Amino acid sequence: MKKSLKESGSRRFDPWLEVDADALRHNVRETSRLAEGRPIVAVVKNNGYGLGTTNVARILDPLSEIAALAVVKADEALELLNAGVKTPVVLMALAPPDAEEELAARGVRLAPVTDDAPERLRRVAARLGRPVAVQIELDSGMGRVGIPVHRALPWLQRLVESGAANVEGTFTTLTADDFEPEQVHHFRKFIEEARAHRLPLGKLHAVSSHGLFFRRDALLDAVRVGLTLYGAYPAGARELGQVDFTPTFRLQARVVRMELLRPGDGVNYRRRYVADRPVWVATVPVGHVDGYSRRAANGCEAVVRGRTYRVIGEVSASHTVLELGEETSVSVGDTVTVVGPDDPAVHPNEVAARAGISVYDVLMHLGAKLPVVVQNA
Ligand SMILES: *Cc1c(COP(=O)(O)O)cnc(C)c1O
Repeated sequence: MKKSLKESGSRRFDPWLEVDADALRHNVRETSRLAEGRPIVAVVKNNGYGLGTTNVARILDPLSEIAALAVVKADEALELLNAGVKTPVVLMALAPPDAEEELAARGVRLAPVTDDAPERLRRVAARLGRPVAVQIELDSGMGRVGIPVHRALPWLQRLVESGAANVEGTFTTLTADDFEPEQVHHFRKFIEEARAHRLPLGKLHAVSSHGLFFRRDALLDAVRVGLTLYGAYPAGARELGQVDFTPTFRLQARVVRMELLRPGDGVNYRRRYVADRPVWVATVPVGHVDGYSRRAANGCEAVVRGRTYRVIGEVSASHTVLELGEETSVSVGDTVTVVGPDDPAVHPNEVAARAGISVYDVLMHLGAKLPVVVQNA
């Protein structure tokens, strides 16, 4: 395999991601504490929230707190299998018909969510010579995926009677707003009815990171979280100060250019910043293609040599410019952190707040082509 510049030891300017395995493990322990020891279904969808599906899965795989790894794309389920993870993999989505059997054969837990699932699974189970392990997804009011809870009972009855499914879990997704109590009510009512009919449901789970803080009456048998594992907080939770999550990654690059602007000199497209005095600026070759928000100049800062500097102008596809001041010790080649644990100003939640975007975007929009260096593996 070709070595990247970073691996070959040269001092690359181009952006890269550092993933800190110790921080991820710390966040797993904190999440487990908040879940009062319940098993964690770790969501590693969407390229492992930007950090690389395999990178995060390999770190999570050996941890006793992690009961399953969950994705929403069939290719990501296969990627996890190919990486050799031992933890059960859950595909929280409709499996494509032509991949269903392969996924089931390789042990992926399917979420059968269509009306014809009992018949389909019967065929798959017959070919495999064993029942298919499944997680049942119920739509309790999000109107998106899953079997609508109001008509799920006869469907589950058919599925169970077919003998084709081994129900390991039953779950629903909550809306992260004040509609949640109604959803939890419908979900619980279904559970009671199913139990009255002696239908197996496996482990019950509903809350994601938001519910871990705000829907603690519905922690049930397991929690199904992504965000907190990567060291970020759902909206409104950081302020509670109940737990200490550490950002699991750093988005970094090195300064490529230093220049002393003269009064009247402008920066980047549309010259949103114009110097009003002689001021040093540093150009960093990281931009919105790498996942650093276009809107970062609305108040975001970056860390260089332990100090924070304001992002100015407008973040373009591949460049960010920092205002350093009238004098500076920063030089070409210095490492810059635009998101990470290095300072409260670059914490993913703070970057999201200042840029006016969702914290999910700070993670999931990280460039999939960024080289990743895993530390403390
Ligand atoms: C993404 C996702 C989660 C995890 O959500 P977080 O807010 O990141 O904890 C849980 N369940 C489902 C169905 C999801 O799609």
